Amino acid sequence: MNISDLRQTLDLAQTVQEMEFLVRALYPICRSITGEGFRQTLQILQTQIPLTQHQVPSGTQVFDWTVPREWTIRDAYVKNSQGDRVIDFQRSNLHVVNYSIPVHTKLSLQDLKPHLFSLPDRPDWIPYRTSYYKDTWGFCLSHNQLLALPEDEYEVRIDSSLEPGYLSYGEYYLPGETPEEVLISCHACHPSLANDNLSGIAIATTLAKHLSEIHRRYSYRFIFIPATIGSITWLSRNEEIVDRIRHGLVLSCLGDPGHSTYKKSRRGDAEIDRAVLHILQHSGKDYKVIDFSPYGYDERQYCSPGFNLPVGCFMRTPNSQFPEYHTSADNLEFIQPWALQDSFTKCLGVLSVLEHNKTYLNQNPKCEPQLGKRGLYRAVGGPAGTGINEMAMLWTLNLSDGLHSLLEIADRSGYAFDAIKKAADALEEAGLLKALS
Ligand code: ZN
Repeated sequence: MNISDLRQTLDLAQTVQEMEFLVRALYPICRSITGEGFRQTLQILQTQIPLTQHQVPSGTQVFDWTVPREWTIRDAYVKNSQGDRVIDFQRSNLHVVNYSIPVHTKLSLQDLKPHLFSLPDRPDWIPYRTSYYKDTWGFCLSHNQLLALPEDEYEVRIDSSLEPGYLSYGEYYLPGETPEEVLISCHACHPSLANDNLSGIAIATTLAKHLSEIHRRYSYRFIFIPATIGSITWLSRNEEIVDRIRHGLVLSCLGDPGHSTYKKSRRGDAEIDRAVLHILQHSGKDYKVIDFSPYGYDERQYCSPGFNLPVGCFMRTPNSQFPEYHTSADNLEFIQPWALQDSFTKCLGVLSVLEHNKTYLNQNPKCEPQLGKRGLYRAVGGPAGTGINEMAMLWTLNLSDGLHSLLEIADRSGYAFDAIKKAADALEEAGLLKALS
């Protein structure tokens, strides 16, 4: 069974249920760029795919960066003078600024306020804030909650620690026919945020699970890393193998109701860029393609000039362009099963293009070969369902001069890749095409 067969036989409704189940299981965990929450997340993913957990000690130099101390959070609260928890980490892990240093003190409202963060224009939502590389502490709360705090003496406690430990990441490698690789990368360091983080993790895990069961032309490497420091760490430890990466995708924000967005690799015209564009163009739905910029997710690292890997970023609504982004409103209700399914299907379509995109040589290049005597016209006009398009065959024959891949033929002819691939298969079987690569 190859990826085309998988696309035809996969039970999508069940696949979406699996992804939703995974998102629900992961949602409550307080993740960060290091620490137990990240490892728990990898353990849950290990129930789906046998990924390897790597542990990189704090203090390890990774290019210009240093693996930070490990953050552990046990509890955090602000209590009023009656002893009520007016801000409580146990209710939402977004309440504590991620990577806060420990604190235990009493403060007036005025002295507490510089450590409180809210969103005045979204007064019911809790913002998500981090302070990875600066020793500070803080609490996030809804603006309405903030406005309701009276003058009082508050007990502030963050029961956390920052100690030498590890940066953990997950890696799952699936060998294929060739050692050339497709890299699928997603960040897994956000706490209870569903679209930004969990949608990408669920889609990557589910893709990995299904790809593990089929014949693969390419080798696949799935990595689940803390954003930025994780991709930097991975690249610094794998420098000698990065030239095997032929295509790559960063997956993020794939469950919101917005339309699909593809951010091109820094190269801009890599095969992955053309493959994603092709799938979006033939999806029959709205989409947006944006050029590379050195901002966003881990494509920033993969596309840094010293690597310049062919890695793009597949999303629905991009980071910071939906109001729920990095707030408590990016929750389980925000992500839509149909959107997860649509994103997943498009990812499979892209991988199918990559798996099957080859260049052929026409074995009868002087004038058109006679298709009728090879039974190929019968295929065209024959029983419904054989589905081989005559024009797709003529285009494939004409452009199979060894210089055009099937994807290029599809784009030039306007036919979907699948139609060109079907035509090429029939022509190859009839001895009219020979695969070059
Ligand atoms: Zn984020």
